[in-house]
Amino acid sequence: MRVLILGGTGEARVLAAALHARPGTDVVSSLAGRVNLPARPPGRVRSGGFGGATGLADHLTAERIDVLVDATHPFAASVTANAAAAALATGVRLVVLRRPGWTERPGDEWRRVPTLDAAAALVPELGRRVFLAVGRGGFAAFAQLPGWFLLRSVDPPGPPLPADRWVVLDRGPFTVDGERALLRAHRIDVLVTRDSGGAATSAKLTAARELGLPVVMVDRPPLPPGVTAVTGVAEVLARLPV
Ligand code: NAP
Repeated sequence: MRVLILGGTGEARVLAAALHARPGTDVVSSLAGRVNLPARPPGRVRSGGFGGATGLADHLTAERIDVLVDATHPFAASVTANAAAAALATGVRLVVLRRPGWTERPGDEWRRVPTLDAAAALVPELGRRVFLAVGRGGFAAFAQLPGWFLLRSVDPPGPPLPADRWVVLDRGPFTVDGERALLRAHRIDVLVTRDSGGAATSAKLTAARELGLPVVMVDRPPLPPGVTAVTGVAEVLARLPV
């Protein structure tokens, strides 16, 4: 059985390791190829886009892929749409893996918004010193806002960026102690994040709760019509033929 994993996430690496160890399964992980020094999954790895849904469909056929697993980040909506279209066009089985989103706890002060633009519209009424943990592609939505911004991303962000800013380059997992210290050191008033889910980057939410800070939580983009997702690696494995 040949499995292509669209990856770039921790779950994709765990899944690749499990399939790599499975006799009779040939697994290839696909990375977008945009991050410097990406964490590499076990087994074969390819890098770079396919050229849209058509390019991905051609790749599935040429490589005789039996199962396509979309284990990309919950906000990587384009590649997920391409995966759905390519699976439909080729008849290749598609399994979508999405880690669960975060849920509010007692003491949290979250404001859920549908988009980054909606988050940017809300931020000025919540504070002047803003921690943006939205990925480097998300900073542009805040570029025209007044106030001071702490930007954190894995790789250096490009313009447009908020004028008054401090950039921190870092990659999770993060600790509650570290996040609390960061929020305090920069006297942050409000945290903006996307509902990525998972444990690696959830410490900022605990720290914000402890410090009584509001959080603007950007909701995930919807899955393509007719597509459903499983939430864990074990569920993906259970859906694959042995
Ligand atoms: P995106 O906007 O949905 O994808 C844009 C284009 O990048 C796709 O159309 C595709 O190009 C290419 N691409 C994306 N993921 C790919 C993959 N795994 N293998 C091969 N090509 C891929 O995605 P994105 O938000 O830029 O995310 C890119 C990658 O980074 C994904 O693997 C994702 O899991 C990972 N990641 C994203 C985030 C995030 O915040 N979005 C966070 C952590 C990790 P073609 O159309 O040419 O095929």
